[in-house]
Amino acid sequence: MSRNPRYDILFEPVRIGPVTAPNRFYCTPHALGTGNAMPHTRAAMRSIRAEGGWGVVNTGYCSIHPSSDDAPLPFARLWDDEDIPVHALMVDAAHRHGALAGVELWHGGGGAGNRMTRMPMMSASGIVGESTYPGWMNLAGSRAMDKRDIREFRRWHVDAAKRARSAGFDIVYVYTGMSFGPYQFLLPWMNRRTDEYGGSLENRARLTREILEDLKEAVGDRCAVALRFSTDELLGVPGEHMESEAHEVVSMLSDLPDLWDLKSSSWVVETASARFAEQGAQEPFVGFAKALTSKPVVGVGRFTSPDAMVSQIRRGILDLIGAARPSIADPFLPTKINEGREDEIRECIGCNICVSSYHDGVPVRCTQNPTMGEEWRRGWHPERVPPGDGETSVLVVGAGPAGLECASILGKRGFEVTLAEAGKDLGGRVTIESKLPGLATWARVRDYRTYLIESMANVAVYRDSPLTARDVFEFGSDHVVVATGAEWTTDTLGSNGYPCAGFASDAVFTPDDVLAGANLEGPVVIYDFDHYYMGGCLAELLRGRGHEVTLVTNANAVSAWTFMNNEMAEVRSRMIELGIRTEFENTVTGFADGAVELTGVFRDRTVRSIDCGALVIVGVRQPNDRLYRELVADEDGSARAGISSVRSIGDCRAPGAIVHAVYSGHECARTIEGGEEVEPIAWERPKLFDR
Ligand code: ADP
Ligand code: SF4
Repeated sequence: MSRNPRYDILFEPVRIGPVTAPNRFYCTPHALGTGNAMPHTRAAMRSIRAEGGWGVVNTGYCSIHPSSDDAPLPFARLWDDEDIPVHALMVDAAHRHGALAGVELWHGGGGAGNRMTRMPMMSASGIVGESTYPGWMNLAGSRAMDKRDIREFRRWHVDAAKRARSAGFDIVYVYTGMSFGPYQFLLPWMNRRTDEYGGSLENRARLTREILEDLKEAVGDRCAVALRFSTDELLGVPGEHMESEAHEVVSMLSDLPDLWDLKSSSWVVETASARFAEQGAQEPFVGFAKALTSKPVVGVGRFTSPDAMVSQIRRGILDLIGAARPSIADPFLPTKINEGREDEIRECIGCNICVSSYHDGVPVRCTQNPTMGEEWRRGWHPERVPPGDGETSVLVVGAGPAGLECASILGKRGFEVTLAEAGKDLGGRVTIESKLPGLATWARVRDYRTYLIESMANVAVYRDSPLTARDVFEFGSDHVVVATGAEWTTDTLGSNGYPCAGFASDAVFTPDDVLAGANLEGPVVIYDFDHYYMGGCLAELLRGRGHEVTLVTNANAVSAWTFMNNEMAEVRSRMIELGIRTEFENTVTGFADGAVELTGVFRDRTVRSIDCGALVIVGVRQPNDRLYRELVADEDGSARAGISSVRSIGDCRAPGAIVHAVYSGHECARTIEGGEEVEPIAWERPKLFDR
């Protein structure tokens, strides 16, 4: 297939200072969950995007000096020459695929915790931003930088840029954003200096200007010097669009950087999940810049639609289409557009599991792309799979995310696949949950895989087919994969913090009941000790149906886990907006006579009651594994049917998030011949050396 001429503009080269990007697909710097200790993993995670057609791939934040240390969060570093080879690995791989490689040089100033290096933090005036989450709080303060510090700060940038050039990077960044070093000079409330670096905007922008000039002089003959700049806090109230200092900064520095990489100051806003922001939601923060500079502008917006990308360029918003999440979900997005296969794009669903992985300190995991982070250690490619023998047959029972992923990869490998689904719809939980407020994009997990399966002659799909063990034995395939999911229980959380049997009442419901259309009456209490999206989404859904809703949780925040995927603040705001009451740090210890009894989780154990007609418990899921257990219990039946392996995958094996189900289905499909045997995995190991 050939490219739709409508998308030709996306494949135009773009000049960036002394280098040229081969197209407009720009993989922006983003946290990857790998530090310098995982160079192979990191290089593979980046270079797979270059292979997939992204014209530029960047590192995540890369510390220029030990005084900028973000431990325990994984960050890259270029502290001395020993750090060059680990970066060269990624650069060489990117170059092999014809992409440019960029490095996001970073000094966190008062925003880096320095928990590992134990060096004092430094900032414009010794003021650091206030944190509202314990994990971000730091007991150490920062000291105000004197003139010598500023000279050193500039020198560290130059030294790191020279190392970056030695590693082969084509683009080096100055990072004036997101509460980091030079940005702290820019923000008037963090900069109280009275010297030439404080006061007027020109003074507050001086450090950024100087570093840009330093880098241009030091490496600008060969490397483009990009400025990553955050806008919205300078625009006034975060999120509001009004002319202010951000406009002045772009006008003032206009053509000094070779590239403007614009982003929102708030990571929460910049990475807003699909539940809270549409594709292209950054436009109000960045759309003004192109009128103020002749240099190329890049920005992100969770762009997965080539038409939306073209629109950004044609309307003069961006020159390069920046992407983190869309490039994680589909490293081959540009190639697919180039080859007229845009229907095959594995579109990011905006769930932000990738963000949570970084906070977890592990390589990025992705709901849509189970190969992300596995490129090096398991040799998984997002588009290529090892061929099967073309004869072996596999029966997959259940067409949720796990079953669909498994069947589509088995099909791609060339096996004879039968996918049996009890219901009339494919998609399992994503089909149901994508009807929750804000989760419509989650149906992409189903749609992408269904689209692939429908084009495969070797995959037969049977709907309305609830299989029993007898059916499976009668069918008699070489391998059986059971992907029958899980269901919510009415177990409650006991006072010892562990789930236990719940309350006997017709007015107690699970999320499955609510989603299946159960009739709830009166005020509703949702007791959430799952802490992810379900409690908050059900609260929204039921409030939308006119119920008084109170969300009770034993945590001290609503949907507490969503701090990890950057959704928590938005969830809380939504609850407030909708008038959903919240009761934190409480367990539900009784439900009778139209009221729930709440008991405080701390030692005083205060007991109160709230009137309610229905109690929804969002806590524990149990595997729907009866079929699997029956199959493995009957070894003779399997032998008679010629079945050589029976495996369970996804929620049927261990209930988890959708990302776990997809991964489990993918892994099973790649390893079907080996049964439960764990494939050897390559681990990165430190090299021992003498001091
Ligand atoms: P996962 O997230 O692990 O993919 P889901 O709950 O989303 O799990 O999907 C499980 C799917 O399995 C559902 O679509 C359900 O209808 C289907 N299913 C459950 N039991 C059977 C069965 N006995 N035969 C066929 N399909 C089944
Ligand atoms: Fe997109 Fe979710 Fe994958 Fe992140 S984890 S790239 S948000 S699909």
